[in-house]
Amino acid sequence: MELTFSCHRCQVVNHVPRAEQARSFACKSCGAERDLHPEAIASGELRCCPICATTDLYIQKDFPQGLGLFIVIVGFAISTVFWYLERPIYTYLILLGSALLDLVLYYRVPDVAICYRCLSQVRGEGSNPGMHLRPFDLAIGERYRQERIRAEELRLAGRSVGERIPSPDQAVPHG
Ligand SMILES: [Zn+2]
Ligand SMILES: [Zn+2]
Repeated sequence: MELTFSCHRCQVVNHVPRAEQARSFACKSCGAERDLHPEAIASGELRCCPICATTDLYIQKDFPQGLGLFIVIVGFAISTVFWYLERPIYTYLILLGSALLDLVLYYRVPDVAICYRCLSQVRGEGSNPGMHLRPFDLAIGERYRQERIRAEELRLAGRSVGERIPSPDQAVPHG
């Protein structure tokens, strides 16, 4: 399985070719070490995100999401030329062809498993064991998106306030 994730320090995208064998990984750009969760891949099957151990993962077709739309639009553009040239048969053939190409692509292109929390991606055999992963769920995605926004706000606040953030046990009133 191939793991793709962005570095927590410099945000550069990294690839780990055989994630099932790797225990830790150093960022190719800044060298930041990242431990991988060894329990994430067991007997060749993906159990959770190797980066953050989240079990909420979704599945997506492994090609740019705009590509399908692009094919339909290009097909439509070409077909209008033939419509203008009064060749209706060619017009319909091209429309049909672009729709078929879309369909073939959809079924031929493999899936990629993506972590809701850290957006790491896992490709390859075993990344969707038993086909139990579902496509992106807006409600779950929104929950994790809000979490990421809060984490980013805390990070920025921590950077500007520095040492003055009270630790959680100091904030608890005594008595
Ligand atoms: Zn880095
Ligand atoms: Zn993750």
